[in-house]
Amino acid sequence: MSSDHAKIVMQRLDALAQISEDDGQTTRIFASPAMRRTNHDVGLWMREAGMSVRVDAVGNLIGHYPAAQPDGKILLLGSHLDTVRDAGKFDGPLGVLVAIACVQQLHDSKTRLPFAIEVVGFADEEGVRFQSAYLGSRALAGTFDPEDLKRTDAKGITMAEAIREFGGNPDAIASAKGDVNRLLGYAEVHIEQGPVLEQKNLAVGVVSAIAGQTRARISFLGQAGHAGTVPMNLRRDALAAAAEFILAVESLGQNRGGLVATVGEIAALPGASNVIPGEARLSLDVRHPDDATRVKACHELKSRAEEIASERDVKWKWETVHESAAVVCNRRLTLLLENAVKRQQPEAPLLASGAGHDAAAMSALCPVAMLFVRCQGGISHNPAESASAADVRVAVAVMNDFIVQLARPA
Ligand SMILES: [Zn+2]
Repeated sequence: MSSDHAKIVMQRLDALAQISEDDGQTTRIFASPAMRRTNHDVGLWMREAGMSVRVDAVGNLIGHYPAAQPDGKILLLGSHLDTVRDAGKFDGPLGVLVAIACVQQLHDSKTRLPFAIEVVGFADEEGVRFQSAYLGSRALAGTFDPEDLKRTDAKGITMAEAIREFGGNPDAIASAKGDVNRLLGYAEVHIEQGPVLEQKNLAVGVVSAIAGQTRARISFLGQAGHAGTVPMNLRRDALAAAAEFILAVESLGQNRGGLVATVGEIAALPGASNVIPGEARLSLDVRHPDDATRVKACHELKSRAEEIASERDVKWKWETVHESAAVVCNRRLTLLLENAVKRQQPEAPLLASGAGHDAAAMSALCPVAMLFVRCQGGISHNPAESASAADVRVAVAVMNDFIVQLARPA
C-alpha cells in the first residue's frame, strides 16, 4: 500500500463517526452495540496492518504486531474508542488510527522491530455510561476497582451485566493487566481539545503532565412541597441550595490560578413545575496540575456545601466517584517525542493537559508519553471538533520517527 496514511486515518475517522447509538450524532458508550461494531471494524484494520487481534475481559481491543524475536518487549500505543454524547470524530479514535497507520507502514515494508507493538483501543475512557472514567485503561493497568462492577447505568443495568452482555468477563478483569516486565511504555496521540497549539500555529505538541482530577456526585436533600401552599420562609428547597453551591464552585475556580471547577449535570426531584424540589443532584469536576491544590479546593467546597446546607436546613451528601492524581510524563519517552517533533516543525512546545487521558491511568503500569494534535478553535466534546489532514500527517510522521528512535540501540 503506497498510500497517504494520513488520508486513510481521516477516512477511517469519518467511518467511525457513523457508528453511534443515536441517529445523526456520534455517541458510543461502554459495552454498547456501537462499541461492538467499532471493535469489529477497527479489528479489521489492525489485521490489515499485520496484527493479531484480541478483546480482553473488559472489552479493550488489542492488536499485536510481533517483535523480531518472540521474547521482545512491547511498546503500547493507542487511545480510547468510546465517546461522549454527540461527540466529535477525533477524541480517542485519532490515537488508535494513527497507531495503526504506523504499524501498517512497518508491515508494508516487512519491518520487524526489537520490540512488539500493541495498539490498544480502550473500551471506556469517558465514563458516560457508569460515571466512572478509564475503565479500559485501568483494567490494563491493573488498577480496576471490582467495586465498580456494582455500579448501574441509567437503565439499572450493572456494569458486571453490561460487560457480560458485551462478551467480556467481569470476574477475569484482573487477568487483563499488562505484564509490567515486558512493557517499554505507552504512547498516546490525542487531539489537544484546547486552543494552545492553534495560538502557536503549530501542528503538534508534546504533553509534559496531565492534571489530576476529582469527580463527585453531590446531593442536597430538603423537603418537597406544594409550590402554591408552602410559604417561602418554611421551605427547605434543595434546588436553591444546589444553585448557591454551583456559584461557589464557579467562584473558587475563578479565584485560584490553574484550577478548573465545573458542575455539568443537575437534576431536581421530583421535577415538576408546581413542586418545591425535595432533592437536587449534581456532578462536580475539579482539576489542577498540582494534587495538593486540587485536594484543598475539594475540602473547601465540602465546607461550603456544609454551610449552605445548614443555613437552609437541608441535608447534603458528597460521593467521590473518581479521583486521579496528576501525572508527569516519562522524561525519556517525552524527549524522543520532542526530538521527533523538532524534525517536523520549528519547535516542540511542551503542554500540560487539563483533560484526563488513558495515559494517566496507564502511568500506574508503565512509563507514558503523549503527543497532542492541533484542534480547530480548541473545540472538543462537540461534533464541530476538527483537526486537519496536514496536522494528522505530521502526527503520523512524528510517531513513526519516535518508534524508529526507540528501536535504535541505546
Ligand atoms: Zn479522549
